[in-house]
Parts: sequence; C-alpha cells; structure tokens
Amino acid sequence: MDATEFRKRGKEMVDYIADYLETIEKRRVYPDVEPGYLRPHIPDSAPEEPERFEDILKDVEKIIMPGVTHWHSPYFFAYYPTANSFPALLADMLSGGIGCIGFTWASSPACTELETVMLDWLGKMINLPPSFLAEKDGEGGGVIQGTASEATLVALLAARTKAIQRAQSENGTLTQGDVIGRLVAYTSDQAHSSVEKDGLIAGVKTKQLPTDDAFAVRGSALRKAVDQDKAAGLIPFFFCATLGTTTCCSFDKLSELGPICNEENIWMHVDAAYAGSSFICPEFRHLLNGVEFADSFNFNPHKWLLVNFDCSTMWVKKRTDLTCAFKIDPVYLKHAHQESGLITDYRHWQIPLGRRFRSLKMWFVFRMYGVKGLQEYIRKHVKLAHEFKDLVLQDDRFEICADVILGLVCFRLKGTNELNEALLKNINASRKIHLVPCNLRGKFVLRFAVCARTVESAHVQFAWKHITKLAGELLKAQKQQD
Ligand SMILES: *Cc1c(COP(=O)(O)O)cnc(C)c1O
Repeated sequence: MDATEFRKRGKEMVDYIADYLETIEKRRVYPDVEPGYLRPHIPDSAPEEPERFEDILKDVEKIIMPGVTHWHSPYFFAYYPTANSFPALLADMLSGGIGCIGFTWASSPACTELETVMLDWLGKMINLPPSFLAEKDGEGGGVIQGTASEATLVALLAARTKAIQRAQSENGTLTQGDVIGRLVAYTSDQAHSSVEKDGLIAGVKTKQLPTDDAFAVRGSALRKAVDQDKAAGLIPFFFCATLGTTTCCSFDKLSELGPICNEENIWMHVDAAYAGSSFICPEFRHLLNGVEFADSFNFNPHKWLLVNFDCSTMWVKKRTDLTCAFKIDPVYLKHAHQESGLITDYRHWQIPLGRRFRSLKMWFVFRMYGVKGLQEYIRKHVKLAHEFKDLVLQDDRFEICADVILGLVCFRLKGTNELNEALLKNINASRKIHLVPCNLRGKFVLRFAVCARTVESAHVQFAWKHITKLAGELLKAQKQQD
C-alpha cells in the first residue's frame, strides 16, 4: 500500500467506522457465537502472497463482526463504560501516524511535554490539590498509564521501595527479603480484583478490609487492622482506597482513612477508575474530598471521559517517589537534558519502556468538547441512571441494592439468588441488551451501567420494559412450578 492507496483506503475506513457507529443499534449487542467459532473461518497460516484490501474488509464484516460485543451500542449496560468519541479516534490515528516512542524527553519532546501539560489541565479540571501538579516547579505531576491496574501496581511498587528503605534505615541488618516478608497492603472487600493481583505480582500480603452498610471502608476498620498487624510484627505500608467501586460504585471514606495513612507512613493510593471523570462537575467534586491525604491518585479517562482506550491518568505528589524507585540508566537511553530538572523521562514512571503518544487524544477531546461539553456528558449519564432507578423503585417486585450516586444502578428481584441468576441468564440470552452481575454480601445483584455515548432515555425505557417482561415470564413460570 502506497500513500495514494492509503489516502483512498483511509477515507473508506473512516466511512466504515462512521457507518458502524451510526447504525450500531441495529446490531445484536451481544454476539451469538460459541468458543472456537473463528478458527474454521480463517486459514491456518499467514498468506505467502499479498492480498487485497477489499477482501480483508469483507472478512471484517463476515468473520469479525459476528464475534464482537458491541460496547458502544446504546443497549450495552454491562461493566462500566469504555470511552469512544470521534475526536479521540482521529487523535489516535495521528498518534499512530507519528508513531514515536516517548520513553525519554529526547525520544520525542512533544510526546512528553504535551502529556505533562494535559495531566495538569485534567488535574485542574477535577480541582486536584496543586501538590499533585507539575506546573512550572511543582514536586508532583501526572503520567498516562495503560490501565488502572498498572497505576495501582506502580504505586504499590514505589511504596514497597520506600518501606524497604525506611525499615533498613532503622535497622541496618535487615535484608530486602526480611522486610518484604513483613509488609502488608490493605484495600477494601469491594476493591477491584486488580489490587489483589498487583499484591501477588509485588510479592506482598494484601488484606481486604470490611466495609460498612454503604460498602465503604471506614477509618475504624483500617485502624483496627493496622494496630493488629503492627502488634504481630508486620509492617503496614500501602492502602488502596476506591472511589466508585466496580461492584456497586461505593466510596471509601478518604477523610477518615487519609490521616491514619499519613500518621502511619502508609502510602495511600486512590483508585477512581470509573468515578474520577465525574469530578469535573462541581456537584460531584465532593466525592474526591480527602484526596489531599493521598500519595497517588488515578482514574481512567478511557472509561467515562470520551478518550478512547488506553488512557489511565495517574498523579503523584512526589514524582521522585517513582523516579527513585524505577530509575535505571543504560548508556543508550541517556541524553543531554536528563539532569536539567526541567524535563520528565516518563520511562521512570512506568513498567514498560515504550509508550505511545496518548496525550494527543486528551488534547483533541478537551478542545473539541470543552469542559462544559464534558460536564454535560457526565450529567446526562447520571440523569439516565436515576431515571432507571426510579423505574425500578416503582415496581415492588424489585429492590435497589446500593445508593445510586453516578451512572450505575444495582438492583435485583426480591427473592432468591437463583431467581436473579435465571433473570440475568434470560436477559443476556435474548441479546437485546447486555448486563453483568455482581455479588454484594452474598446477594446476586444485577448491575445496570449507563455506558454508550449515544444512550438516550428511550434506550433506558426499552431496557426496563424488556427486563420486566422477562421477569414477569420468569415469575409466572415459577408460580406454575410451585
Ligand atoms: C475498571 C476498574 C479497574 C480496572 O481498570 P483497568 O484500567 O482495566 O485496569 C480498576 N478499579 C476500578 C474501581 C474499576 O472500576
């Protein structure tokens, strides 16, 4: 493919994507395929001779699309949203075209500098304390990680390094292994599974703290665990708080937890993967109160801020906590400006070396929507979630299982777990809408998450009608059985 053909095919591809997104409602949101469906449709090995673009595109429709879950369908209400917007798609294309790898400032100065400024922009949009910003001479700053899981791991590893250094400075005979064996990290019993996985990767004990009636970790739970563990000779060193848990969008009480962490030399990391985007609205910003106690904070604009995957933004108060933990300097990566203090080498802020020019997506989206446009977008989703909640509340066969604060509604039929499992099975088997469940203190609960950029009240109303129709059939069948 030469540049002339690229121009032509590029325009066709843009048309294909625009058509796909414009008509996505007509597709079945959840694919009707069995495991292994794909292999029989494609050759066993790559072609020796080049093939034609038309043939590849034809196969996309024939082989790939039937196996796609359409996350951007307005009938998709599963998990949490994943962002998709036209400005971000275009910026992603440009990022691919430039194709630089921005591991150091020198490896592509614009890639590093735009990222630093975009993280300051976004930090100001959510009114993050200035101590997290890089600005001209701050000690903090932000970085784009691939995912929230990686951000938590980076924070955990940096905290581990700090804890080892502290323990060794107090007792010079301790080896690194001695200290690691005694370290203990905490999170909530509602935290995302990635926190536990990160603990496994880092080789440290992780404990899940119990939550209160609102599924939030309280200061008293952390205090109790810290005191017990210290008495047993362990070293509490890390706490991952969640703002907007994946199960039910609950919020840990940062203002109670933060002071304990600060007092006990425990690194507090805040995972707000989904909820973080809502903090750009003044009416939701209070949910972030207490972040001033944190050492690091992360959320995913790639979930709810219209910046396509991947873009997980992470801020730290002291960037030297990261750069000191992960700094290794082979000759081939050294450059003339690295000691100037003015610039950032993002390779010291993350696990991989290579990194894409992802801040272009933020820049395009922030400029094309404006803060006002993004706020409206968040508000619309929250409003739709409340519309769904009100529908559930009007039907006394159902119950709401957790406070509806943002765009997630946890609900279930009053009755057994088996009944609700059957309802969800029927919903997803019909493939008209897609939902996933969660488990709240042993209860099987359905999650209704407002996800797509194009979702409207009509889709929410349709979803509820569909759910109640299936519920009615199920309850009727059950009565006949009894
Ligand atoms: C979605 C989610 C994650 C995982 O996000 P990734 O970016 O895919 O790692 C972590 N924590 C919470 C609270 C989430 O909602």
